[in-house]
Amino acid sequence: MATTGSDHINVFWEDGMLDHDTGKGVFDSGIDPGFLDVLEKHPENPDRIRNMFSILKRGPISSFISWHSSSPAQISHLLSFHTQEYIDSLVEADKNGGKTFCHGTSLNPGSWNAALLAAGATLAAMKYILDGHAKICYALVRPPGHHAQPNQADGYCFLNNAGLAAQYALDSGCKRVVIIDIDVHFGNGATEGFYQSDKVLTISLHMNHGSWGSSHPQNGGIDELGEGAGFGYNLNIPLPNGTGDKGYKYAMTEVVAPAVKKFEPDMMVFVVGQDSSAFDPNGRQCLTMGGYRDIGQIIRNLADDHSNGRILIVQEGGYHVTYSAYCLHATLEGVLNVSHPLLPDPIAYYPEDDTFAVKAIDSIKQHHAHVVPFLKGMS
Ligand SMILES: [Zn+2]
Repeated sequence: MATTGSDHINVFWEDGMLDHDTGKGVFDSGIDPGFLDVLEKHPENPDRIRNMFSILKRGPISSFISWHSSSPAQISHLLSFHTQEYIDSLVEADKNGGKTFCHGTSLNPGSWNAALLAAGATLAAMKYILDGHAKICYALVRPPGHHAQPNQADGYCFLNNAGLAAQYALDSGCKRVVIIDIDVHFGNGATEGFYQSDKVLTISLHMNHGSWGSSHPQNGGIDELGEGAGFGYNLNIPLPNGTGDKGYKYAMTEVVAPAVKKFEPDMMVFVVGQDSSAFDPNGRQCLTMGGYRDIGQIIRNLADDHSNGRILIVQEGGYHVTYSAYCLHATLEGVLNVSHPLLPDPIAYYPEDDTFAVKAIDSIKQHHAHVVPFLKGMS
């Protein structure tokens, strides 16, 4: 089957990523004070990814998908983004049978191999694009990576899969890479890694959750714009709770698309988390399948115009075990630019009010036009 066209998505997946066992407790604490008969699994559990895997295997999108295997990342590959000291601490933790790095983020037996498989799959997916075998690849990976900073685990993440892939693209000759992150949480890992670079434009749309402690000192606000040569090349788009489909579409067309057009990337990394959905336990942004489909389509159109259609999609959060899989399906339908939805939304019913979101997005746009050198004067 030909896999080079833009009518196809090449998915990179390894079963071993399911071996990262995050346990049970009250939410992501791993602690059971004893008050409840029924404990839920940690939000970042294998079931969510199992369902993403199965919906791509058995859903109506399955005929658009080719499957690929890959190898674990080598330690040497990780040092393009992470520090030696930090990687040594992960290896040491694995040897010692595990370690909790920060709240909700524990390396357990099996976790390190899963993390290496996730990084390896993401790098292999990027290589597949760079080698000209495909335009669109999707790394269906866990543990997630977008909070992992060069020297710091954070928010269920150990290795920054998307950051490693973006750096690999640069090292392979790409001139400018854009990372667009729609996970409901701020993609602080890539921001930190490329904060002083004008070669990687990092854009994150997220809940306005601010800093959440020593593992996550970045606040995700509009004033975190980058430093030195990188000033202006980190665009945070903190959105009000409940922003919804119309608000996200507005942010994509009014803020993200103009910045991408100005930046002219030759590679696009699309970081997806379905925790921005209407039913996620960890997010409050109220996207439905329709909203994800629209975002996917906007990303696809931007890639066709700027990166020769090349898109690496990287999986991050998304914790509703059913709806995350359905929203992934819708996102990929958008990226494929299918003419009509392949899969109906089984649950969306919230009415939307985008009034507040539009105001917030307009003010972010104005802020960029005033202070971001490469966006100066845009309105
Ligand atoms: Zn998230």
